[in-house]
Amino acid sequence: MRLLIIGGGPGGYVCGIRAGQLGIDTVVVEQAKAGGTCLNVGCIPSKALIHAADEFHKLSGYDGRSALGITAASPSIDLSRTIAWKDGIVARLTGGVQGLLKKAGARLITGQAEFLDGKTVQVTTDAAVLRIVAENVIIATGSEPVELPFLPFGGKVISSTEALALDAVPERLVVVGGGYIGLEIGTAFAKLGAAVTIVEATSKILPQYDSALTRPVMASLEALGIKLMLDTKAKAASDTGLMVETADGEIIDLPAERILVTVGRRPRSQGAGIPGLSLDMDGHFIRIDENCRTSMRGVFAIGDVTGEPMLAHRAMAQGELVAEFLSGKKRVWDKICIPAVCFTDPEIVTCGLSPDEAKSAGIETTTGQFPFTANGRAMSMEAENGFVRVVARKDNGLILGLQGVGEGISELAAAFAIAIEMSARLEDITAIIHAHPTLGEALHEACLKALGHSLHI
Ligand code: FAD
Ligand code: NAD
Repeated sequence: MRLLIIGGGPGGYVCGIRAGQLGIDTVVVEQAKAGGTCLNVGCIPSKALIHAADEFHKLSGYDGRSALGITAASPSIDLSRTIAWKDGIVARLTGGVQGLLKKAGARLITGQAEFLDGKTVQVTTDAAVLRIVAENVIIATGSEPVELPFLPFGGKVISSTEALALDAVPERLVVVGGGYIGLEIGTAFAKLGAAVTIVEATSKILPQYDSALTRPVMASLEALGIKLMLDTKAKAASDTGLMVETADGEIIDLPAERILVTVGRRPRSQGAGIPGLSLDMDGHFIRIDENCRTSMRGVFAIGDVTGEPMLAHRAMAQGELVAEFLSGKKRVWDKICIPAVCFTDPEIVTCGLSPDEAKSAGIETTTGQFPFTANGRAMSMEAENGFVRVVARKDNGLILGLQGVGEGISELAAAFAIAIEMSARLEDITAIIHAHPTLGEALHEACLKALGHSLHI
């Protein structure tokens, strides 16, 4: 066997498809369902729930006060039907992954893999225990939710997996952790009618983003009636909810039917016989080089198990890279940027360097920011909350970073990444005709602003 891939998430299944296409004899072993975290309990289910919540919330707002002149009878939601619709999408996608692997000539085995040594893996299926010897093995085991020792999962304490499969909207939901998952799912449940409190240990939400980007999200949390408790630590579950300690040492018992814990995800590197390989590690992440090689010859690692950012598209890009590398193509990890989208309300997109990151790197920059209040398309969609910002080198206008916040701005992630990966300068973007009226015009205008000659502001 040329290639054995452990894990059928975005990293593993993309690697399997590409390796199969390239004629490499490939087996993917997956203990659960093909598609991994992303398709089954992550990216797709959460975006489906967010969409349903947005639709419900919009209808709920049209009670005669809407400036659009629309009225609607008071809507209701049957969450179990919403979840069944979401499950249908998941089934289509995971079935699609199985079909794509088959079409490419890669075999998918449902079973649990465990390294016996760097070349030999034992796979336990429902029917048998197999021993597979492979020339190359790829670890694509992904990540799992971090559990707080004083707030173990079970009963009313849930992770994102259970939150995305509830059959009724909880009356009161407390979310522990104001990061990606807590904000995305917390906002969705608030729109579905739950009274939501977000408890965040640090002094800001989404601590990795600058406050210009998070300000519109903070405003929207407030408008949705979400109670945000910053500098507050979860202590323990109580009979009626969650005990927390505020910044000034006050202990408060927050009532809740459900407590959603979203304090990060940890790489799955401690099982499957991985510790026995004694690989070089970076904390709990497996250390890899620019070809995704680990410290053991013939053993590669990709995706969440290898480090931040733990994003599906990074895992997929690594999977494709390794397959091509193993087929003999010259491939190294040479990406300038990995775009990230937070599907909050409004959405946040980041790509490349922020102004602060460029400054820390000692680069002199010029920035341009264009607000959606001056964009006709945003006005016509009631989506004026936000902006696009460009960060470029002062000496030659090379674009180093693009960030933005706004409703529907996730779709600009591609334009941002293309500009940076193709080493565009400000003039390259301003020379391009951007269709009118679109949110993309804000990218054009932000670059014009950085050059000192905006047209529409
Ligand atoms: P995973 O998807 O975790 O897949 C690993 C697979 O390996 C799993 O299926 C597991 O069952 C299998 N496995 C593990 N051990 C073994 C073993 N011993 N034998 C056999 N199989 C094994 N990312 C985005 O880019 N955009 C988003 O919008 C987004 N939203 C998210 C929302 C939520 C709620 C969550 C939880 C995550 C989200 N993510 C998002 C992150 C994204 O899901 C992960 O980055 C991505 O799934 C990582 O892919 P992976 O292949 O590395 O691992
Ligand atoms: P996160 O790292 O985004 O956020 C965790 C938050 O919890 C942080 O703000 C942290 O300060 C806070 N926290 C930590 N311990 C705490 C405690 N004891 N009490 C209160 N707050 C505490 O983690 P996440 O939201 O669990 O998401 C995990 C990962 O999944 C993300 O980092 C991302 O890589 C991925 N993801 C991506 C997307 C997307 O791309 N749209 C969506 C969801 C998840």
